[in-house]
Amino acid sequence: MGIWFTEKQTEHFGITMKINRSLHSEQTDFQKLDMVETQEWGNMLLLDDMVMTTEKDEFVYHEMVAHIPLFTHPNPEKILIVGGGDGGVIREVLKHSEVKKATLVDIDGKVIEYSKKYLPSIAGKLDDRRVEVKVGDGFMHIAEAENQYDVILVDSTEPVGPAVNLFTKGFYAGISKALKEDGLFVAQSDNPWFKAELIAQVQKDVKEIFPITRLYTANIPTYPSGMWCFTLGSKKYDPLEADSSRFPDIETNYYTKELHKAAFVLPKFVADLTK
Ligand code: SAM
Repeated sequence: MGIWFTEKQTEHFGITMKINRSLHSEQTDFQKLDMVETQEWGNMLLLDDMVMTTEKDEFVYHEMVAHIPLFTHPNPEKILIVGGGDGGVIREVLKHSEVKKATLVDIDGKVIEYSKKYLPSIAGKLDDRRVEVKVGDGFMHIAEAENQYDVILVDSTEPVGPAVNLFTKGFYAGISKALKEDGLFVAQSDNPWFKAELIAQVQKDVKEIFPITRLYTANIPTYPSGMWCFTLGSKKYDPLEADSSRFPDIETNYYTKELHKAAFVLPKFVADLTK
């Protein structure tokens, strides 16, 4: 029973998994949206036939994109999330008691709608009183923001379609302007096996804008190559300077106080992309 779904990660390489049934499929104003039930990974959100998140391994990405920056900043009260319509990053951000307001800006309201319906364990905090959800272009939101946020998290799709502008130097300059004087940001920055040039370019661009630029990784089995990268740019606080032993305990399944620094230890072929 079931059909095989393949995400082609390059022209000649992909990941294949067994799908029991489609739960919803439509062409939104921005992308092809599929919500499917898989045999082994729970419900899964696909956008333009790319794996966005699965109920089984989503915790890795959402914990690592949120807890490293939010523990690095000593008082992360005002947070912006660009993208993130599946709600996973919001769920993790709200585990930090300092957070007073988390604004999420996703260009596609349908992602929010169907994540709430079919991914309740991921999207369940989007209606929290500390959360403001906006449907709009994150690039424009950043362009209009100034000195507003302590932490900005870019949880976008890959640099195609509506997300193309979210990997440009102009966008990172806009992030710097939108951040407070001691703010910091993290952006998901794809994988070093198939997108090495992108990672190197993002590192170069961010380094020219932020005094502290770092790259860290996490293992996400359903993402292309399984090795995922995150770029951090900071005006003042360095994640490697933080005394992680003093962080409050929060509920996680991947992030740990030790990983807070260990995640920045890179294999040589990845470290070479940061030079
Ligand atoms: N964790 C996933 C990854 O690393 O690929 C991303 C998941 S999240 C669902 C990606 C979101 O980015 C989508 O909901 C998409 O609508 C949103 N997005 C893409 N371009 C955007 C833009 N310009 N402004 C705001 N949101 C955007």
